[in-house]
Amino acid sequence: MRVAVIGQGMAGTLAGWALCKRGHEVTWFDNPERSQASRIASGLYNPIVLKRMRIVHLSEEMLEYIEPVYRALEDRLQVKFFFPTPIQRIFHSVREENDWNSKCGSAPWSSHLSDGRSLDGLLAPVGTGTVSQSGWVNTKLLLDQFRHFFSAQVVTTDLHAKDILFQPEIRIFDKTFDAVVFAEGWRASLDNPYYPKDVFRPSKGELLSLRIEGLPDDLPPIHYSHFLLPGVEAGTFRTGATYVHGEPNEQVSSESRQELMDELHGILKPGLQAEVIEQKAGVRAATKDRRPLVGQHPIYRSAYFLNGLGSRSVLMGPYLSEVLADLICDAKPLHPDIDIDRFFRKEQF
Ligand SMILES: Cc1cc2nc3c(=O)[nH]c(=O)nc-3n(C[C@H](O)[C@H](O)[C@H](O)COP(=O)(O)OP(=O)(O)OC[C@H]3O[C@@H](n4cnc5c(N)ncnc54)[C@H](O)[C@@H]3O)c2cc1C
Repeated sequence: MRVAVIGQGMAGTLAGWALCKRGHEVTWFDNPERSQASRIASGLYNPIVLKRMRIVHLSEEMLEYIEPVYRALEDRLQVKFFFPTPIQRIFHSVREENDWNSKCGSAPWSSHLSDGRSLDGLLAPVGTGTVSQSGWVNTKLLLDQFRHFFSAQVVTTDLHAKDILFQPEIRIFDKTFDAVVFAEGWRASLDNPYYPKDVFRPSKGELLSLRIEGLPDDLPPIHYSHFLLPGVEAGTFRTGATYVHGEPNEQVSSESRQELMDELHGILKPGLQAEVIEQKAGVRAATKDRRPLVGQHPIYRSAYFLNGLGSRSVLMGPYLSEVLADLICDAKPLHPDIDIDRFFRKEQF
């Protein structure tokens, strides 16, 4: 099968890779300048929504795919970007610590939560907890290396709905395809009429890259109010990310920088100073019901979707791209909670 994938962020890369592995001929159409989200992401994955202490929907299934998919990609691209490492949570209150400890002993939490450890250079007066089955991916390295490796199959261009002709074979410029996968991230909310209406709730996020003398290079990812995690350059760190709704642009702001620095200084031991090297902003393709968009167009049956990964592309991407490939190749039905059809059906009434 010849498949066109629109977008080469985390969603498009993993969707196309799942199809390549099954022997299909994939071409990516991507203009990386349209959205930076995947390339600037912290790249963390973990099965718990730490702010609300909820287990991520379908995380059990998602975790099964993480290691095999990223390891196979590392082997293929000959680069190391996957770092499974337990996240450390710094507690804010004794009540939170007690809640954590009571969860540690009972299913389903016991497979994810345990006691924490001491953290060099950081203040954690109430204590820490550990989240296992978590870690991070250097998404920029993965995506850049992937683009380089598959360069003969990546077309660098802006692609608009009018460029895609369903005849019924799909025609894009001078190429023909049997299927198209839309994976353009939040930008789809602006100009792709094939999506159901009003499904996206884009959320802007900002992140700082830092130098912090005195923090150990092998610091695990830390969750306090934001995350502190290793930087993509050796000896550096990152903190973020902010969440702002209703401002879908990639401009950095002094307010976000201040917010991130103030909260970071609340956990650094006295004497440690953080110096900002870089500030970046991107927009997450979050959805109205906070669940991803996977599936098939109800009328243009050769058009498929992988989008709406919100703040969890690293955790969700490997699983969702495999179930999408199962749908495209074997017509295997999707879990209804992630099927984009839930929105298309509403439009029919
Ligand atoms: C600050 C920040 C921190 C984050 N941290 C994490 C994290 O720790 N863990 C995590 O899992 N997720 C994180 N995320 C979220 C994650 O980045 C997104 O969920 C993910 O990037 C979405 O990937 P995507 O491929 O759907 O979209 P995108 O990353 O937006 O990629 C879409 C691609 O398609 C291209 N494109 C779009 N429209 C067109 C078009 N018409 N023609 C051609 N090309 C087009 C874009 O330029 C881009 O290359 C973070 C996001 C931000 C902003």
